Amino acid sequence: MINKDSTLTIEPEYYHPVYDTPLRPDAFEMDDKTKMELIAKHFSRIMEVLGMDLNDDSLKDTPKRVAKMYVKEIFSGLNPANKPKPTLFKNPFQYNQMLVERNIAVFSNCEHHFVPIVGKAHVAYISNGMVIGLSKLNRIVQYCSQRPQIQERLTIQIANMLKEALGTDDVAVVIDAHHHCVSSRGIRDAGSTTLTAEYCGQFLNAETKKEFLNHIAL
Ligand SMILES: [Zn+2]
Repeated sequence: MINKDSTLTIEPEYYHPVYDTPLRPDAFEMDDKTKMELIAKHFSRIMEVLGMDLNDDSLKDTPKRVAKMYVKEIFSGLNPANKPKPTLFKNPFQYNQMLVERNIAVFSNCEHHFVPIVGKAHVAYISNGMVIGLSKLNRIVQYCSQRPQIQERLTIQIANMLKEALGTDDVAVVIDAHHHCVSSRGIRDAGSTTLTAEYCGQFLNAETKKEFLNHIAL
């Protein structure tokens, strides 16, 4: 809960549906401006504890920059107010094969270390009679990525949002990503990538799945 002095009291465990990002029920009671002020204040403390001199010209605005980046950019997908509103169009050509959008850029952050996850998403759907503006597929990937994430949940969240937007279960999502928490620290393996997939509806059918995987050449 948010206290009168804008500090936070962490409540006991809440129930979160398994595919949802674990958020407190009061996650959006505080406005963005207050969030940025608080994050900047706390980030200053982190920098001070690390021994950095916040009077230095190069460092003095870093807390504010980080706060703005968190709230308005890299974690803006936490807030449902920023959810893309995809428009669907009639499918005048009766195109009824799968549509595949490959190599959609994924920029996310690992929720265990708060360092980047960078990769590509490949998504596909089979139209139920309506089609979606292509860039909306990118926007859905981007929105779900702009949260502290784990790749498995990100993959499922994208698939669920595609189903909702397209009004069909016939969707597939593959993500191939590089985790900075694996490369820049810990095991320090810069070469490995992590692959996750979610196949739904007709994509559970072996032939359809194979066609999709051929298209994305994995
Ligand atoms: Zn991590």
